[in-house]
Amino acid sequence: MSTSRIAVIGLGRMGWHMAAHLATKGSDSGRAVSVCDVVPGVAQKWVDENGGTAFTDAAAAVEGCDIVITSLPADRELFAVADAILPVLSEGSLWVDHSTTSAEGARVVHARGAEKNVAFLDAPVSGGVDGARNGTLTVMAGGDREAFDRAEKIMGAYAARVTLMGSSGAGQITKMTNQICVVGLCQALAEGLDFAESAGLDVSKVIHVMLQGSSASWQMANRAEKMLAGEYNYGFSTTLMRKDVGLALDEAKSMNVPLPVTTMVGQMLAEVSEMGGDAWDWCSLMERQRHSH
Ligand code: NAD
Repeated sequence: MSTSRIAVIGLGRMGWHMAAHLATKGSDSGRAVSVCDVVPGVAQKWVDENGGTAFTDAAAAVEGCDIVITSLPADRELFAVADAILPVLSEGSLWVDHSTTSAEGARVVHARGAEKNVAFLDAPVSGGVDGARNGTLTVMAGGDREAFDRAEKIMGAYAARVTLMGSSGAGQITKMTNQICVVGLCQALAEGLDFAESAGLDVSKVIHVMLQGSSASWQMANRAEKMLAGEYNYGFSTTLMRKDVGLALDEAKSMNVPLPVTTMVGQMLAEVSEMGGDAWDWCSLMERQRHSH
């Protein structure tokens, strides 16, 4: 077994770019990357652009690898990959999962890995597709210090900030916190833009002024003009944000923590889906707001 063979499983909007950074910025030159996606042709397309070896079968992809990176939609896919690769991964391997999943799902896979001496980190990310493409993601990890120390340098290929938040599941809880903090903010932005527009103001000018004041935010700087223009063909889908809101609400329920604003925006995102907006960026909350009167 070579010591730095990496497998990347899940070549979607995020994983595609992470894998590309790993192939080009490996700490040792000529790092071999095996890539895998269940959708036929995707891994081969990635290999045509970046080199490496393509697989559609996760168990075959991790053969001879001691580091596995995953970027999968949700718990169901994480468990499917765990079933496939844990029986074949070598002892001492490291698995870094960048999917956003439940904290409990992460803990279960961490425990199953530990039985086989495979270290598992839950390591969800923030920063979106642009962050993945530019290699500037923020990673919030949960797991063992030793595994984190091994993973830190590898994640440096595509992340600008990497932090160990606590034991297994702590990365996912941090990501949920991030989503709780941002959903209400985006709905408030939609309401403000709709309000200014309805009042007949030059809304671009309003955004410009507000960006210098107390309501400025990343959402306002990066999304407000697009929301105003009704452009949603990019970014983080309504479907994925609804998944993340669901994870946060389930976790909050288990702790008896009320999340009234997050609950409300979750219902609004369901209405965006009903409008046909599953694949739109979730800031299409603006579209729902505009159609609400
Ligand atoms: P995506 O749906 O584009 O990519 C997931 C990929 O996994 C797909 O290509 C799919 O075919 C593949 N896949 C599914 N099951 C598989 C299996 N069993 N074996 C191999 N491949 C499999 O999703 P994404 O936008 O890249 O997001 C990935 C994760 O990152 C999600 O959990 C998401 O919530 C999170 N995330 C996404 C963004 C974003 O802006 N897109 C931002 C932050 C976090």
